[in-house]
Amino acid sequence: MDAQQTEQRYGFEVYPKRDLTIVRGEGATLWDASGREFIDCASGVGVANVGHAHPKVAAAIAEQAARLITCPGVFFNDARAKLMQTLIDIAPDPLARVFLCNSGAEANEAAIKFARHATGKHGFVCTMRGFHGRTMGALSATHKYREAYEPLIPGFSFAPYNNLDKLAAAIDDDTAAVVLEVVQGEGGVRPASSEYLQGVRSLCDEREVLMILDEVQTGFCRTGRMFACEHAGVTPDMMCLAKAMGGGVPIGAVLVTDAIEPAVGMHGTTFGGNPLACAAALATIDVLREDDLAGRARHAGERFRARFEANRPAKVRELRQLGLMIGIELKEKARPHLIALMERGVLALPAGPTVIRLLPPLVISDAQIDRVVDCLHEVLA
Ligand code: PLP
Repeated sequence: MDAQQTEQRYGFEVYPKRDLTIVRGEGATLWDASGREFIDCASGVGVANVGHAHPKVAAAIAEQAARLITCPGVFFNDARAKLMQTLIDIAPDPLARVFLCNSGAEANEAAIKFARHATGKHGFVCTMRGFHGRTMGALSATHKYREAYEPLIPGFSFAPYNNLDKLAAAIDDDTAAVVLEVVQGEGGVRPASSEYLQGVRSLCDEREVLMILDEVQTGFCRTGRMFACEHAGVTPDMMCLAKAMGGGVPIGAVLVTDAIEPAVGMHGTTFGGNPLACAAALATIDVLREDDLAGRARHAGERFRARFEANRPAKVRELRQLGLMIGIELKEKARPHLIALMERGVLALPAGPTVIRLLPPLVISDAQIDRVVDCLHEVLA
């Protein structure tokens, strides 16, 4: 049996699969089992920001693997300590402390627990179309994919995104926190306006409610800044991170201000702060900074927009974008176009039924961007 048959036979399939077996990657290029080349505009769903098989990340993983792979949270560890310091160095003030975990959903789980613990309140106001993960707590904050799993955690309500008045009306005396993304990713690539984010910050301060920003998809230079909240000059009380953080190795984090006080036993996870993942994250952050991949995301994003818009296909309803987080809302279903793009050697993602989402590695070359635009123009003609 080949890989496809074996996965189909033994996998517990929960994904709409495509007929492609990927075996190798380098930069923004992926290869299938037959040696065919693809331009990657998925990045493992926003993970491979530094590109595939980055030599510095690969070397750091190999070096750490040969030294120490695991170390529980009850002991101190050099790689973990260095990562915590680095995260606080790159995070906007006043984020001051780090809880390390293993995924985006877990980062949101932790933030939800920390908010209840810190405030003694129970409620959360989240946003319509918001996505925060598939575990029961993160799903409770998520607007879709809920029905089959109810009852979820009580106390979660939803306000329309980018609407400050509705958010203000949804906050009550038992609201612990507001939870939102800076750009809604799974919800269709919808950026928040700076005024909205600044308004949320002021509202949270006035009403003594914590602001939790989920930067799982927007973090680590994807939008042209290290963290997307920097575009609006807004710092949350808690920031959730994962995806691109480990260059492809699973790792997540919640960064918190001093307003959230830690307490022994408050939360925990076996793999959180694992030295192997920490070494991968340290190397990834070094590459992001040394190679100015935030600048690269701004440049490549602008090149994409200019070329795409110069000949915008009539099937396009709207182009929404921040850096290299790109959503093309169509007037029809996206999936057939995703297949057509794949046939032309471009791998892209959906974000809802009618949106083509592009999250290429930030190291994508200008020539590759141009090729992606040409392919989009062809398939959407
Ligand atoms: N939060 C956001 C904004 C996401 O985009 C995602 C995943 O797409 C998650 C949380 C969940 O992350 P994970 O799949 O690592 O649990």
